[in-house]
Amino acid sequence: MKNLILIKYGELTTKKNNRNVFINKLENNIKQILKDYDIKIIKNRVRMYIECKDIDVQNIVLKLQNVFGIHSIVICERVNTNIDDIKSKVLDIIKQIDFKTFKVDTNRANKNFPIKSMDFNSIIGSLVLKNKDVKVDVHNPDIVLKIEIREDYTYLYHQEYLGSNGYPVGIQGKGLLLLSGGIDSPVAGYLSLKRGIDLECMYFESPPHTSVQALNKVLKLTDIINNYSGNIKLHVIPFTKIQETIYQNVSDNYMITILRRMMYRIAEKFCAKNGIKVIINGESVGQVASQTLDSMNVINNVVNIPVLRPLVCMDKSEIIDLSNKIGTYETSILPYEDCCTIFVPKHPVIHPTIVKAEYEESLFEFDSLIDEAINNVKTYTVFKEDFTDIL
Ligand code: ATP
Ligand code: MG
Repeated sequence: MKNLILIKYGELTTKKNNRNVFINKLENNIKQILKDYDIKIIKNRVRMYIECKDIDVQNIVLKLQNVFGIHSIVICERVNTNIDDIKSKVLDIIKQIDFKTFKVDTNRANKNFPIKSMDFNSIIGSLVLKNKDVKVDVHNPDIVLKIEIREDYTYLYHQEYLGSNGYPVGIQGKGLLLLSGGIDSPVAGYLSLKRGIDLECMYFESPPHTSVQALNKVLKLTDIINNYSGNIKLHVIPFTKIQETIYQNVSDNYMITILRRMMYRIAEKFCAKNGIKVIINGESVGQVASQTLDSMNVINNVVNIPVLRPLVCMDKSEIIDLSNKIGTYETSILPYEDCCTIFVPKHPVIHPTIVKAEYEESLFEFDSLIDEAINNVKTYTVFKEDFTDIL
């Protein structure tokens, strides 16, 4: 028997003119995330339906809960829009489930149906009461039996799972997420995906000062946020030479500021080459010395591309809660070093100035180092099965 899953669209229903673009993107994303399942998608402007095999239903619902652009997911039954068929399906359904109290909620989208919603609620309510030892409770029922009467068919259901809302990934084009192995940047990535931004990720590594485990950790994090997207790449930039040059030439307290300015320059050049529209990072105001408003200003000053900071006003505890929810926290707290945690100065500057940063950078040549780093980028296309138990 084929099972039917109904998808209620999220915020995209408000985008009147672009609705088809949104729905088509959502359909493509669903196809991508369910590519291993035998499914058929039927869609219209108000709803999407997925036919699938009985055995796959629960797994498919779990996967759909990670797809942005979905308000809720409903396992439903479909019958022809006529009173007898609806009644007989109701009897079928109530036989299969356990409940003590219920309510019926009819939505008569098809105004040609001869019975009004409230009247139909009473008719079906009486039918249930006659056939099962249960009571009506309109305030706090064990189940709500929903009946959607549409032109083509009538849909019946009682189980509704919340989706992730947001916009379908990709509807906004691409952003480059600066992904470290920390707690914050994966969460920033998740929130960006939720607003419909497709991601590519960039990680700066400094071997041998940073280990292969640190890289594997970032691959694993990419893999986890890929659960919400399906096609994320990780670009690994060799950063050792730049970092060592900074270490040798720059005043201790400006090392992190200059390091970050180099990261931004590389990211911006990479975006321009690859049609990526924004840089995204995990910064939050005041969290560390490089995230004061003065630091953000001096660091941001080297690029023209917009820099999105989805976590900018969140507390660390809120970020950690989200990190737990999306499944990145346990990986993020593994104790491998990041390029920013090596060569850390004792007293990083908290209120840097552009003039001083430019002076520090005049002490060495960096354009060729930046080009060399970009030319030697290594790109990983992350697929789930490739990175299980890598750590
Ligand atoms: P996170 O938890 O994301 O590492 P953080 O609070 O530790 O953030 P920083 O280490 O100061 O903060 O980094 C700020 C942001 O800079 C990170 O959120 C990330 O977007 C970017 N970043 C830092 N280090 C790297 C790196 N090695 N590769 C790529 N991006 C990085
Ligand atoms: Mg960090």
